[in-house]
Amino acid sequence: MAILKIATLGHPVLRKVARPVTLEELRSSETQRFIDDLVETMFDANGAGIAANQVYEPIRICVICVKDNPRYPYKPNVPLTILVNPELEPLTDETFDNYEGCLSVPNLRGVAPRFAHVRLRARDREGKPLDYEVKGLTAGTFQHELDHLDGKLFVDRVKDTTTLSTWQDFERYHMTAWVERAKAIVAEYGS
Ligand code: ZN
Repeated sequence: MAILKIATLGHPVLRKVARPVTLEELRSSETQRFIDDLVETMFDANGAGIAANQVYEPIRICVICVKDNPRYPYKPNVPLTILVNPELEPLTDETFDNYEGCLSVPNLRGVAPRFAHVRLRARDREGKPLDYEVKGLTAGTFQHELDHLDGKLFVDRVKDTTTLSTWQDFERYHMTAWVERAKAIVAEYGS
């Protein structure tokens, strides 16, 4: 396994729409090894998720895992999830404000509105179909990762640019209020 280099804001690979993966390609040892490397890279960087194009591979694969994450201590845990060719459908017009960060946008956080309840369809790493619903903060994480595959970054979604903050100033000026807000979101949606 290997830790892959992460592309940062400004690199064109982050702005291209990633291409779908065929089932044959998915089952190849090369792609399976790539998925292992993507997972390892996410864990190494303490990310809650990472998309293939963030490591210069413009294919529609992303991985998510939240387990007592030091970058996002308020996020509910999410088991390791590997999504291939994922599609997301909002199940409500209702949105909530999510304070986000991104491994490809170093030292910046900001508030992006996200749908509170979404349906997710994808394949797992073996090609088996997945179809389930996700709510609240976890739904926000999924929307962030799927945006990557369409060449979008959370900064594109930030409506109120006064919420933009370095990580240090987030901790100093915004963390306390956000943790309270995050608790309320988890209480309302269950995650
Ligand atoms: Zn990101």
